Amino acid sequence: MRFSSHYKMEGDDIIDYVFEHSNFFDANENLVYEEIGDGNINYVYRIFEKGTKKSLILKQADVQTRVRPDGYLNPDRSAREAGVLKLYNECAPDFSPKVIYADPVMAAIIMEDIGSYSNLRKELMAGKIFYGLEKLIAGFIVDTSLPSTDLGLGYQKKCQAAFKFYNPDLCKITQDLVFTHPYKGVRGRNIFLPENADWLKKKFYEDSKLIAKVAALKEKFNNYPQGLIHGDLHSGSIFVKIENEKTKIKIIDPEFAFYGPIAYDLGNVLAHFIFAEGYAKYSFIFDDENKKASFLLWIENAKKDLLKFFSIFAKEFLIKNIKDPMYKNEIFIDDYIEKIKIDAVSFCGTELNRRIIGSAKTPEITGIKQIENRILLERELAEAGCAMILNPEEILRGIKA
Ligand code: ADP
Ligand code: MG
Repeated sequence: MRFSSHYKMEGDDIIDYVFEHSNFFDANENLVYEEIGDGNINYVYRIFEKGTKKSLILKQADVQTRVRPDGYLNPDRSAREAGVLKLYNECAPDFSPKVIYADPVMAAIIMEDIGSYSNLRKELMAGKIFYGLEKLIAGFIVDTSLPSTDLGLGYQKKCQAAFKFYNPDLCKITQDLVFTHPYKGVRGRNIFLPENADWLKKKFYEDSKLIAKVAALKEKFNNYPQGLIHGDLHSGSIFVKIENEKTKIKIIDPEFAFYGPIAYDLGNVLAHFIFAEGYAKYSFIFDDENKKASFLLWIENAKKDLLKFFSIFAKEFLIKNIKDPMYKNEIFIDDYIEKIKIDAVSFCGTELNRRIIGSAKTPEITGIKQIENRILLERELAEAGCAMILNPEEILRGIKA
């Protein structure tokens, strides 16, 4: 029977599959599709009615990854991603596309089209300001992660959930790309701007104190099932729009989600604010200096406020929801939140570093065409990244000030 065992859908399959597995379109509607996926791993299609443009999204995971046909990844990741999106639909419904149908056999998810929202990375690279963005992201992290912790869910239920979201294959990718390759240059995978190669190699490969700190972060990433985290919360996983002068966001692509340190998500967001800041400083996107100054001032405040709002919302949540009498202690709660923020600074450092020296770059760096500016930006980010890893408490005090 059609669609009863996994294969990569093509052409009419895509339209027929969505038609058969949702009640969204009528039989007489004229459906077409386009591939809209720009990621490295999966296939994403928009299926829409030609006239009205009414649409749905289909995301399918294949056994081979989209950009590297030699890269095998188990398609069961799709079921995990659907499970996480469904959870988001419950605890942060306004912040996630609605799952309409999830199919573990075809490794496919039919979901709401969030086409009225734009990719946050692209918007920030165009110099757009989104007031309230950091508050929404901090709220999303608190609403989706803290309820899943020991403190929010209780230990036994948490263990069951951690097992359900166990994600060793995708976590291994993060371990390699974020916590190993940038410091060990394994199999020549790192990519250098030639003008910075020697400087970066010395900084990343030869500092055993730095490497020891990164090793400890890797160990924490692997062995601290604190709560359900997104695992890949960069600005390309965040979609944004302004409606009635209010910023709104949607979060997509939680296929790297697993039970890990909440600080990892928070640090990732912080790092990608810093990339946006760096791009604004060193590219030529602004036609006037006032606009540039306004953007830089906004993003500077957004970095601080991300952590500030995380603390406020986390404390509110914990005071209200903790049931365990041992955890119901304000000194413990403050300390729990402070530790997340310190680790977020460290994980921000590993994210900054890996995008400079690692194989997976970010367009805020590679998009700088003026070579002298790129050299400067890479060095500035690497200095910041290493300082964050070596002295997170001190840097956090600086961010708060
Ligand atoms: P991958 O897992 O391959 O990285 P993503 O989930 O990041 O795939 O999706 C790739 C792109 O497809 C996104 O950057 C976005 O442009 C588009 N996309 C994904 N989900 C939706 C959706 N629900 N609505 C609209 N566009 C989407
Ligand atoms: Mg993606």
